[in-house]
Amino acid sequence: MGTALCAVLVAACTTGIKGEIRTAGDIAGLPVTHFESGLKPDAPTPQLRVRNLSDSAEDRLAVAAIADVGDFWREQLPRHFGQPFEPVRSLLSYDPNGTEIEVCGASTRNSAMNAFYCPPEDLVGWDRGVLLPLLRERFGPMAVVTVLGHEFGHAVQYRLGDKAGIDENTSTIVKEQQADCFTGAYFRWMAEESSRYFRLSTSEGLNQVLASLFFIRDDPGVSATQQGAHGTAFDRTYAFQLGFESDAARCATIDQADVDARITEQPFDPNDTNQGDLRITADSVALLQRSLDESFAGASGDPPRIVEGGGSCPDGSGTPPASYCDDDNTVSIDLAALARIGQPIDREAEYTGGEAEGGLGDFAAFAEIVSRYVQGIQVDVGAEVNNANAGLRTACLVGAWASAIDVEGALLRPSPGDLDEAIAELLRPRSLIAADLDGHRVANGFARVESLRLGYYEGSAACTSTYP
Ligand SMILES: [Zn+2]
Repeated sequence: MGTALCAVLVAACTTGIKGEIRTAGDIAGLPVTHFESGLKPDAPTPQLRVRNLSDSAEDRLAVAAIADVGDFWREQLPRHFGQPFEPVRSLLSYDPNGTEIEVCGASTRNSAMNAFYCPPEDLVGWDRGVLLPLLRERFGPMAVVTVLGHEFGHAVQYRLGDKAGIDENTSTIVKEQQADCFTGAYFRWMAEESSRYFRLSTSEGLNQVLASLFFIRDDPGVSATQQGAHGTAFDRTYAFQLGFESDAARCATIDQADVDARITEQPFDPNDTNQGDLRITADSVALLQRSLDESFAGASGDPPRIVEGGGSCPDGSGTPPASYCDDDNTVSIDLAALARIGQPIDREAEYTGGEAEGGLGDFAAFAEIVSRYVQGIQVDVGAEVNNANAGLRTACLVGAWASAIDVEGALLRPSPGDLDEAIAELLRPRSLIAADLDGHRVANGFARVESLRLGYYEGSAACTSTYP
């Protein structure tokens, strides 16, 4: 690595700093709210014709979501695009284990779990038998609304055509990014209390959305150019957050050049023989120490030492499984606990619900350690490590490090899927990635993900200016 790498905390590294200061106190300008998200008790009964509808809770949610996102577009299409809203021609609910239905040239019997938009039939369909119950049970009702909002976004895309830069040659990833962005704009409208059907809190409610975007991500190693690519969780949450922070008109400007400039999805390097999974051992932690020391060389003359100290500081304080200990400038780690976090994701278990305490991959564990290492760097440069912004600044610095080491020949280099591991870990309630020195965590997943991404794209100077 060496000379090719800018020191992470040196301002010259950054490509530009957003002037806007954000704090843990708001979500893209909206207040942080905590209440149960879902169907309003007094929601109207949607007047929609749906083929093969059941009276399941999933179908009730799905139909309300379709009616609601229809309300949204009925308002948005004239406002932003000067065209009237045209309802989707057909809606279909199906159970892959139930009655066989021919749709869009395929059979619903034993199909992969899915929700989809079929352009030739102008049809939105959803699997109420497997996918919707799974989403609802694992993440909550807003996960179902996310998926249907996304599919409806494709229907809107076909209605906009030229106005969204969409034609038969548009790549899948551009369409997917736009649909995720439209979904974000729709959820903002909901968070602003414009919906007749749903109430959405900007904390736990949006956490359901972000967690479900991770769940329905592509497998690591899928190329963004591949047919059917939806993007990584990192890319998908970006598009969603862009829509949430701006509007449908901005989403319609997402094009190939925009996507090419920032998309992180890429295939595995042919030389990456272990497909990106490094075991968390004393050796790999030693490698991490060297990587961090090099990355932060310009910022601190006195880098913290990572030691196997059980995860707490000698005086018993700390934030196990990893703690920054100011007294002796060390990061004390519980190697066994971190090795569990670092185990590869078991996608099979993820689908069946068994991974609650399972591993999320090497980068998840490394990111936890890095979050404590950067406490030491912040202390060294005199940053406030216990103010309200310290947790977001920490996640931002972890993102800055991930980006700084993503260079040819780096000691440790992120492999495909690693950023998603960091995002999934970051969204876990007990994660330290967005926590201050004492382990106080930012409650809000939206802000956590946003700060990690800011560091990744803009470098560490943006972390200190955005989260002072
Ligand atoms: Zn899609």
